[in-house]
Amino acid sequence: MVHKRLDLAGIESISDQKVAEHLFYLEDQDGQATLEEVLLSSMEWQSSESVPLIEALWKPVEHNPPNFGYSSSVYWFYLPLLNAAHYSSEWVVEIAYPVLDYVDLYVVRKGEVQSFYKLGDKQPFSNRVFDHRNFRIPVSLEPLDQVGIYIRVKTSSAVQVPVSLWTYGGLMKYDQLDSLIIGLYFGLLLVMALYNGMIYLTVRQKSNLHYVLYVICYGFFQAALMGLAYQYIWPSSIHWNDQSILFCLALSLMFGTLFIRSYLNLNHKSPRMNRLYSVATWIGGAFVGLSFVLSYDVMIRLMVSFSIVICLGAMAGGLYLWRSIGRSIQYFTLAWLFLFFGGFILAMNKFGVLPRNLLTENASLYGSAIQIILLSMALVEQLTMERKKRFAAQQRAIVQERLAREAQEHALTLQRQDNERLELRVQERTAELESLNERLKELTIKDSLTGLYNRRHLDTKAEEEYKRAQRERNPLAVLLIDLDHFKQINDQYGHQFGDECLIAAAKVLGDNVQRTSDTVARYGGEEFVAILPGASKEKARYLAEMIRLSIMSLNMSYEGKKVPLSVSIGIVSTVPKEAGRYEELIKAADEALYQAKAEGRNRVLSAN
Ligand code: GH3
Ligand code: MG
Ligand code: MG
Repeated sequence: MVHKRLDLAGIESISDQKVAEHLFYLEDQDGQATLEEVLLSSMEWQSSESVPLIEALWKPVEHNPPNFGYSSSVYWFYLPLLNAAHYSSEWVVEIAYPVLDYVDLYVVRKGEVQSFYKLGDKQPFSNRVFDHRNFRIPVSLEPLDQVGIYIRVKTSSAVQVPVSLWTYGGLMKYDQLDSLIIGLYFGLLLVMALYNGMIYLTVRQKSNLHYVLYVICYGFFQAALMGLAYQYIWPSSIHWNDQSILFCLALSLMFGTLFIRSYLNLNHKSPRMNRLYSVATWIGGAFVGLSFVLSYDVMIRLMVSFSIVICLGAMAGGLYLWRSIGRSIQYFTLAWLFLFFGGFILAMNKFGVLPRNLLTENASLYGSAIQIILLSMALVEQLTMERKKRFAAQQRAIVQERLAREAQEHALTLQRQDNERLELRVQERTAELESLNERLKELTIKDSLTGLYNRRHLDTKAEEEYKRAQRERNPLAVLLIDLDHFKQINDQYGHQFGDECLIAAAKVLGDNVQRTSDTVARYGGEEFVAILPGASKEKARYLAEMIRLSIMSLNMSYEGKKVPLSVSIGIVSTVPKEAGRYEELIKAADEALYQAKAEGRNRVLSAN
C-alpha cells in the first residue's frame, strides 16, 4: 500500500476532516509495540513523496473524527506530511479532544525521531508545549521537507482523535473566535448563577437554589470536559482531573433532578413522579460516590445514559403539565429539549454523521446555554405568575375586608340610630313620667279649687318651719284668715258663686304672700293659713292688713249686683320655745281670729 503525503504548501490550516483522509491507524491490542516496530511498519525512513505501509497493520481512517469508542487497546496514528513549497513553514498539530489520557506525539524525519512529546490529561499540564486545553505541538518543515507524525493514544475515555493542522496565523484567527464563544458561555453561566442566586436570597424559593447549584456544577463539568479546568484551575492534579468530569457531571445530575422536582412542585402535583425523581436524585448522589470507585469509561457511559433518561423525563413532565401551568412550563420543557438536542448533535458529530465544525463541535455548549437561559426565564415566569396570583388574592382580601367593614359600619349606624331613637323615647317617657309625677305631687299637695297648698302640705311645711325657727331662734308668724259670713253668700248666690269667691280670695292671698320661704294654704272650707318664717308681729300685721284691704277691694258681683267680701285675720308671731309645738301657734291664731269675729269681723287681731 502506497499513500501520498499530505501537502502543506500554500495553505493556512487543514481541518480534521481533511487530515483524516490522510491519517492511518494501527491497533495494538496488548499495547506492547515499540516506536521502532511502528516505524518499520510504516517505513517512514524511506524518504519519498509517497509512503509505503504494511497493509496488514495500518488502515486508513474511515470516519472523521477517528472514533474507536471505549477500548483498552493502544491506538497508533500516522500522518505523513510534505512541504512541497520552496520555503520553510511552521505548523501546529492539534488534537482537539482534551480528555484523552495518554497522547505521545513523535515527529519523525527520515526514520529519526526529531521531537517527542508526552501529552494527555494523565500527564502534568506543564508538559504541554502550548498552554492550551487541547493537545498542540509545533512542527517545522524545511523547503521540500517530509515528516511523519506518529501519535500513540491510550485512554479510558472514548478513543476519539480529531487531528487538525494550523499555521500560526490560522490558529490565531481560530482561537479568537473559540475564546469568544467559551467566554460568552461561561459568562452567561456566571451571570445566570449570580442572578438566580440573588433571587434565591430574596425570595427563598428552593427551585432557584437548585438551579444555581445545577448551573455551577454543569459549568464545572463543561470546564473539565473542555480541558479548561485542567488548564486554569487544577493544572497539577492529574488524578483528580479525570475524576472531576465524572464528579461534576454526577453533581449536575443530582441538582438537575432536584431542580426538576422543586420547579415542577412534584411533591404537591404528583407524589408518584416525586418518588421517581427522588430516586433519580439518589442515583445522582450515588454516582458522585461511585465516581471515585468505578473506572471512567463505565461511569461516563452510565451517566450519559442516565442524563438522557433525565432529559426525557423532564420533557415528559413538562408536556404532562404543558396546558395546566402555562408559559413557564413551556420554557422549562423547551430548555430540556435544547439540552437534549445539543447532546444529540454532538453525538451525531462524534459518530461522523454530521461534519465537525464550530456549530456541531460546540453543540452541547449551545444547547446547555439555551437550556440555562430558558430555565431562568421559566423561573422568572413562575415567580411572576405566583406574584400575580398572590396580588389578586390580596386584592380580593382587601375588597372583602372593605365590604365587611362597610357592613359593620352600616350595622353600627343602624344600632346607633336605634339607640338614639330608644334614648329619645326613654327621654320622652321620662319627661312624661316626670310631669305626671309633678302633677301627682301637685295633686297631693295642692287644693284643686284654689290652686293653693292643701292642709296636709301646710302641716308638713309648718312643722319644718317651726323646727327651723326653733333651731335658729327666729320668729315665726302664722296668719289664720277666714271669710266673713260666707254661709250667707253661699245661701244667697249659690255654691257656684261661692267657689268663684273662694278662687278670687285665694288669688289675693297668693299675690300678697310671695317670699319663697312663705307658705299660704287653704286650711279648709273658707279658711286659709299663711306661714311667714322670720316675720315679726309688725310685719305679720302689715301683711294681714294688706290682705284684708285687697279682699275688700275685690269687685265680686252676682248678676250685676255687687257682692262685698271681707276677711277676719288672726295673727300670731313668736320665737318658738324649745318645748313648744306648732299647733299651739294655730290655736293662738284661731283664738285671735275668734276674737276678731267677735269684735265685728273685717279686721286683724293679734294673739299677743
Ligand atoms: P262667720 O262670719 O262667723 O265665719 O260666718 P260664716 O257663715 O262664714 O261661717 P260658717 O262656718 O257657719 O259657714 C261656713 C260656710 O262656708 C259653710 C259652707 O256653706 C261654706 N263653705 C265651706 N266650704 C265651701 C266650699 O268649698 N264652697 C262653697 N261655695 N262654700 C263653702
Ligand atoms: Mg266664715
Ligand atoms: Mg269658717
